[in-house]
Amino acid sequence: MFMIRFLLLFMFLGNVCLSQKTTEYYLHNRTPQWHEVIEYYKKLDMQFPQAKLFTEGTTDVGKPLHLFVISADGNFNPVSLHQKRRLIWLINNGIHPGEPDGIDASMIFAKNVLSKINSVAYKNVVICIIPIYNIDGALNRGCCSRVNQEGPLEYGFRGNYQNLDLNRDFVKCDTKNTESFIRIFQKWNPDLFLDTHVSNGADYPYNITLIATQKDKLTPPLGKYLSEKMLPELYRNMESNSEKMIPYVNTIKDTPDSGLEGFLETPRYASGYTALFNTIGFISETHMLKPYPVRVKATITFMESLRQYAARNAVEILQKRAEANSYLKTIHEFPVQWQLDTTSKDSIRFDGYTAVYSKSKITGLQRLTYDRSNPYSKFIPYQNNFKPQVIIKRPVAYIIPQCWSRVIERLKLNGVKIQTITADTIIEVECYKIGQYKTTSKPYEGHYLHSNVAVEKQIRKVQFYKGDKMIEVNQPANRYIIETLEPQGTDAFFAWGFFDGILQQKEWFSDYVFEDIAEKLIQENPVLLDSLKDAVKSDSTLQNNHYMQLNVLYRQSPYFEKSYMIYPVYRLIQ
Ligand SMILES: [Zn+2]
Repeated sequence: MFMIRFLLLFMFLGNVCLSQKTTEYYLHNRTPQWHEVIEYYKKLDMQFPQAKLFTEGTTDVGKPLHLFVISADGNFNPVSLHQKRRLIWLINNGIHPGEPDGIDASMIFAKNVLSKINSVAYKNVVICIIPIYNIDGALNRGCCSRVNQEGPLEYGFRGNYQNLDLNRDFVKCDTKNTESFIRIFQKWNPDLFLDTHVSNGADYPYNITLIATQKDKLTPPLGKYLSEKMLPELYRNMESNSEKMIPYVNTIKDTPDSGLEGFLETPRYASGYTALFNTIGFISETHMLKPYPVRVKATITFMESLRQYAARNAVEILQKRAEANSYLKTIHEFPVQWQLDTTSKDSIRFDGYTAVYSKSKITGLQRLTYDRSNPYSKFIPYQNNFKPQVIIKRPVAYIIPQCWSRVIERLKLNGVKIQTITADTIIEVECYKIGQYKTTSKPYEGHYLHSNVAVEKQIRKVQFYKGDKMIEVNQPANRYIIETLEPQGTDAFFAWGFFDGILQQKEWFSDYVFEDIAEKLIQENPVLLDSLKDAVKSDSTLQNNHYMQLNVLYRQSPYFEKSYMIYPVYRLIQ
């Protein structure tokens, strides 16, 4: 009986769906499928000369990645649009297809914009929309993978075809989706970026929260502009449109009462990546416990607020971005690691629900609920200042041996100008010997991620060969170059394991043979014996290990390989 009822309900909903416009699905707690979304944009492309649907490369699931562009004067050439001082804004949807709010919102927003496209207020902002980015995940639909989320009834899955989270892939670029995204990003070179999501976490009254590019991490002219002018105005505009918004609820302890801390989006994340190219990024996060129609409407309201702001302030935004680009060419020091300043005494007014703790019927331990009948509005701590942890002096150029082709391909994809060494040559360079570092014990997004990397600088004469690559650090991509090539960068290629080959010792010794050699070495240089005694004193595992004690001497001998732990991206300092 239950099954029959279920089937009838399913058929009923199916029929409702057929008779509905795709832009009305959200009102009925539904989100369209990928093919319906693309059909919709194709129709807009046919209907409006100011709109064009492009494909740009492919995705892991073999479907093309689409880009829908709205340009008031029907010009779809990004170079000429930049010359004409148009502001280019890229919107990315469905990076997490289980959070489809932006997919529906963008369809409606695009139609709204196009219906008024001949008005002057729509002239100077070009809007580029990726309808669904993680197509792989969007095709893998189901009812339930986001257990805490209020609808829609069916939606896609977070992981892509490789089960990777695309919102961690912007540097390592393991997927075709990311490769295609980067081509779009580098071609259109957007001034603004928006990535649409749904949040997990605490319960509170706001329908939508916002992560903006971390202000201290953004190049100063832009960071100052964003935090002092743009963000306050965006929050005010949202409130005046009856959609009060708050920074992303990243709580210091369990609940918002404890305070909020800023989200540090390193370059693996969408807005962390765009920040490397001086593109201000926003991540809209609607609240998972709000009904789907409410969330989609809140996302549309934010899109419209941002559009209006961009249209009113296009000249100033472009000016600040130009200043940021010049700034990157002139500065000599680049931070590559950041840490939250926990001493900050800032606060923010927050509307919340009172947290209540009671005994769990399941575990018998303490459980949390939020009492919606007991709301509060009060100031809570807000820590949103980040301090540089590691600062790098920029070299004149980096030299990368050609064997590291996976890194070189990614640099090229990101518009980095690369020169090729034309003859075998020896060059004196600065290089790093990798010291201590930590590695995750389980794979993270397909890699064993390294962190807390210590390095020691050395000057060496290194043999390079015809075909090796040189990258001058005088480019618009300076930040991308430094943050990906410096091994201490949080999301550097080193961190993602692209250079793991150098971390393994290739040659060892037979102790019964090396014993005599070691004895001779000590006779010639008695200090060696002291160093061994020191090593045994500081490392108890050596005490009863004959082989590893000899290894201490072996490592200081001329027989030990010189390339061990030498990071193979060299710094040219003059
Ligand atoms: Zn998300």
